[in-house]
Amino acid sequence: THFGFETISEAQKEARVGAVFSSVASSYDRMNDLMSLGIHRLWKDHFVRSLNPGSRDSETGWNILDVAGGTGDIAFRMLDHATNVNLDLKTKVTIADINADMLAEGQKRAQETPYGNSGRLSFVQGNAEHMPGIDSNSVDLYTVAFGIRNFTNKDAALREAFRILKPGGVFACLEFSHVNSSLFNAFYKRWSFGAIPLIGQLVAGDRDSYQYLVESIEQFPTQEEFKSMIEDAGFIAPGQGYENLTGGIASIHRGVKP
Ligand code: SAM
Repeated sequence: THFGFETISEAQKEARVGAVFSSVASSYDRMNDLMSLGIHRLWKDHFVRSLNPGSRDSETGWNILDVAGGTGDIAFRMLDHATNVNLDLKTKVTIADINADMLAEGQKRAQETPYGNSGRLSFVQGNAEHMPGIDSNSVDLYTVAFGIRNFTNKDAALREAFRILKPGGVFACLEFSHVNSSLFNAFYKRWSFGAIPLIGQLVAGDRDSYQYLVESIEQFPTQEEFKSMIEDAGFIAPGQGYENLTGGIASIHRGVKP
């Protein structure tokens, strides 16, 4: 059932992605730690720090939308940063995710943070490709971490991000990417195709979901291709347009809405 390379309809892909995340929701963090040797936490810390959410002198704070926000990993970091670094108690984050099980896990975890009942965190269920509940030109920062790879229609999601961002607003994506050194790539491929499905089987009892995750990384556009997709949606990519993390295992792409 290595469905990554099969030709499947959009509805089938969406249903399968749904099944994968329902299956991994409760073991999600433990698996991420094992699969990335804990590095995903450093990448997420860096992602949030580099975006520097919140502002010392804004009366309203930032309106942040974390799409595919699942278990809240990025949203909690955003609020921590705004609060502790920028002394901003107004910035708010909305977590949007297509999967009710991932959102439920995020809601449960939010209760263990200072933000659970603060009014600064909200959860909406929805598809990133079409978010009619979110007004045009209303969001300061749109983040998506390890999510866009799973979207059926990535261009539609980028266009939707463009619509809902304010002019000057930032689209920021943290995603698995492509390793640029062939020697490092050889080791990395052995790890991802060999060890990750096995770890998935042993720890979560679910080899297929983790096999899917590995295959979806392989299929994701290269850094340059993804940068072009962001520009095609109307964004301006600042500088090189992306930053490679750990030799390109992951990368951060940014786009600014003019
Ligand atoms: N952002 C979190 C993180 O970094 O830990 C969760 C990432 S998790 C790998 C991917 C998430 O994307 C899942 O919660 C899944 O439900 C969500 N997702 C997949 N397709 C989606 C779509 N079309 N719209 C919104 N969310 C989607």
